[in-house]
Amino acid sequence: MQAWVIGNWKQNPATQHAVNALVNDLKQTDRTCLAPSCRLMVAPSTIHIAGVSAQLQGSGILCAAQDISAHSASTGAYTGDISAAQAFDAGARWSILGHSERREYHQEDHETLVQKTQNALSEQLGVIFCIGESQQQYDDKQTLEVLSTQLDVIADVVRRLDDPTILSTQLIVAYEPVWAIGTGKVPTVDEVSATHTHIKHTLAGYHNALANTAVLYGGSVNAGNAADFAASRVIDGALVGGASLKAESFMTIAQAF
Ligand code: PEP
Repeated sequence: MQAWVIGNWKQNPATQHAVNALVNDLKQTDRTCLAPSCRLMVAPSTIHIAGVSAQLQGSGILCAAQDISAHSASTGAYTGDISAAQAFDAGARWSILGHSERREYHQEDHETLVQKTQNALSEQLGVIFCIGESQQQYDDKQTLEVLSTQLDVIADVVRRLDDPTILSTQLIVAYEPVWAIGTGKVPTVDEVSATHTHIKHTLAGYHNALANTAVLYGGSVNAGNAADFAASRVIDGALVGGASLKAESFMTIAQAF
């Protein structure tokens, strides 16, 4: 099974100079000690996708967009949007969709996410689909129910695709409890493992092609706790926010997988 370690840079770093420095640091790290099955990816801000993907050319580190437009046209009068076709042309090969920050600050709902997922796939952009429960939902023991509802987006996409088998190579799911993102709080490895087992079972029920979908854990993963998560058979990598902004900690996390 392939493992993925993906850095979500969010609205960072602040300057082009700092972006270049981070990319240079990443390129200079020793990647020979990574497991051959471990693949790396970073998701810079939209404005940095073209530069970062050009600088990472040939490094084996892929580039992802953090979001794409819900409008299906590759070009058009959608001020501020970036289409899947534009992201692909700039060098992105994947797109993070459904991140809890997009759901919260941009009110992204079920239909928007179905649309975005379809748009990405129609332009050969893979989808890193994020799901996760809030603190309240966790406390109320509603996690699995919430995740099943969020995964309905994928069920709808499977129904609408002419060829759902493309999802066997174009879909990654990231389980990110909202309460663990950027807080330093993490669920136990046993909790994450039980949740991932539920996610994998749900996905396999949608279509055979989804039976081996990589399911990553995200939320306060760092150089100190990555090995704990990597030890679980059902945690296929990590989506990393804060700790991905330093090449050294990102690579230490990658080495764990
Ligand atoms: C994220 O927002 O995707 C994330 C996992 O953030 P952090 O690692 O900083 O908790």
